[in-house]
Amino acid sequence: MIRVLVIVGAVGLTLQAFIGLSFLISCLQEKETRASMFALIQFVFMSLFLAVYLILVWTGFFGTAMGISILIAGYIVVGIASLLLFKKNKPNQKALEGTKGLIVGDVKRFDERETVFSRTGSLRPGSEQYETFYREHPEYQAVDDARRAKGGPMGDLGAIDRPHGDINVAMLMASSNLPFYLADPDKVKPQPHFSFKKGLTVKKTTISPEEASERIKGYAKMLGAGLVGIANLNPFWVYSHYGRITRDNWEDWGKEVPITHQYAVVFAEEMSFEMIGPAPHTPTSVESMHNYAKGAFIAVQVASFIANLGYSATANHFRYYENLMVPLAVDAGLGEIGRMGYLITKEFGPRVRLSAVTTDMPLIPDKPVDIGVEDFCGFCKKCAVCCPSQSIPMKDRSEVNGTLRWKLNEQSCYDYWGKIGTDCNVCMRVCPWSHARTFPHRLIVAMITRNALARRLFYIMDDIFYGKKPRSKEGPEWARYKSH
Ligand code: SF4
Ligand code: SF4
Repeated sequence: MIRVLVIVGAVGLTLQAFIGLSFLISCLQEKETRASMFALIQFVFMSLFLAVYLILVWTGFFGTAMGISILIAGYIVVGIASLLLFKKNKPNQKALEGTKGLIVGDVKRFDERETVFSRTGSLRPGSEQYETFYREHPEYQAVDDARRAKGGPMGDLGAIDRPHGDINVAMLMASSNLPFYLADPDKVKPQPHFSFKKGLTVKKTTISPEEASERIKGYAKMLGAGLVGIANLNPFWVYSHYGRITRDNWEDWGKEVPITHQYAVVFAEEMSFEMIGPAPHTPTSVESMHNYAKGAFIAVQVASFIANLGYSATANHFRYYENLMVPLAVDAGLGEIGRMGYLITKEFGPRVRLSAVTTDMPLIPDKPVDIGVEDFCGFCKKCAVCCPSQSIPMKDRSEVNGTLRWKLNEQSCYDYWGKIGTDCNVCMRVCPWSHARTFPHRLIVAMITRNALARRLFYIMDDIFYGKKPRSKEGPEWARYKSH
């Protein structure tokens, strides 16, 4: 019996040294200097521990009374620690209800005309829409005019890296170009352009909701979607009025957005860990735009696929939204809303951009998930500490438009964007959920999504290994923003 315990102990200690080594490799791959140093120290200690154990085995120490006592005590400690750290906690029922679990009062549909992108990106001074909007919302006029004078929501693009970031600005503008063309009415609300029986009007194809859901998800993944989920479309998350003008569609501005669809297929695109490392510098915006373009590419094709089956579908992407993306993604089971206001997913943390297709085609909705984000964000606050414009609240969640959430100060966040000329993403970069999904980080995510004590332990470890205010990194050489 003791012999078996000794062998299992040796295997266990070898395994922990292997995990320590893989964490060191992971830190080196992530180019995290501070974390690599701590990971090296940790690995040396783990290896020494294993070496001492093997020496004790070799000397026959575990055959003595003291050796047996120490061995059994070690097993008891490891057993209790494993139970405490791996045990699945009771689920957060509110999270499992999706956005319904966040509703605590009256919710009003949000007017797209009030978003900063509609105000500063669409309204032209002197136009009828400009006069109408600022007559009703004089509180925005001075700040919006100032933003417009600087070039729009992201101000003087690339200002933070000038002049070396200009090549990255050329790249991000190239990616933002595609969604612009994919915002044409025949792209976002496609008509069928294929019929199973040539010459006949397309009829609704007979397909079960199960098969339709499976096919749509498979097709979207094949097109490059990182995550796909289906939600029952809650009308609260449909904009009340159109506010974006992208292709001179002035007649849409101010019209009510009709609610005709019951389902939303939501796509999340992974943003590269390497490209957000330099946030708030220009590579991060190249990556944002790349994934907005990818989201548009996927949403438009999935909408067209559904239209070809004879159903109505609307693509929602960077240049055309009828819905709020984050609540839709929560209801589609892709993740939970974090303190910074972004969706946090199990697979990629907050490193995602979202797009969607709404439809009347019967589908099977996915279930919302509890991955422990509400609990984690309750004590973490790293994004709030690191936000250069102090736009993320340090306080608990509060009621905002009838929902319980952390209220980001969008105005100060966009003011900061305007000043630096990028979409910042510092909050995304520093979030402990953002790490590249290497083997040790997958292991950590598996633990923190099920166990509250593991969340607290790894939050402390994150501060030790990566720092309370992690520094930005260089990013890939081809996207450099500094002169050498
Ligand atoms: S994008 Fe930047 S400024 Fe805006 S909330 Fe995140 S860290 Fe703060
Ligand atoms: S940094 Fe911390 S508080 Fe902020 S979103 Fe990430 S986990 Fe939540």
